[in-house]
Formats: sequence, C-alpha cells, structure tokens
Amino acid sequence: MGKCALCKTNSIFWNYHCSECEKISHLIALYGPASVHDLINKTLLVQKDKIEKKSNTAIDDLTKAEDVKKD
Ligand SMILES: [Zn+2]
Repeated sequence: MGKCALCKTNSIFWNYHCSECEKISHLIALYGPASVHDLINKTLLVQKDKIEKKSNTAIDDLTKAEDVKKD
C-alpha cells in the first residue's frame, strides 16, 4: 500500500493514482495537459491583479473609515 502520486494523501494499492486523481489523469489525456493547467491557473490560482485590486480596496476602506472618525 502506498500514497497517490498526485494528491499524496489517499492510499492506493495497485494504481499510481487514487480514483479521484485518476479522473484528473483522464481529463489530461482527453484535453491535453496545457488545457488542464490553463484551467487550473484561471480558476484556482489567485491572480496578481486581483490581489492588488483587493489590497487597494482595503486601503481605500481604511482611509475612509479614518476620515469618518476624524470628522
Ligand atoms: Zn490522489
């Protein structure tokens, strides 16, 4: 018995991947690794520009809150 080569959490007996990761392996075989990697990058990874927008919004909110306290 070992651990899945992809998620490294689920136990496996005969296969290289667990049943859940095997689905990902099938998607890669079906659509190609570039398409799956692109999808993961677009959906799961937080984009830098979104982080900057959230950071700027938070700074604006803090500045407005301080201005309200001063008034
Ligand atoms: Zn797995």
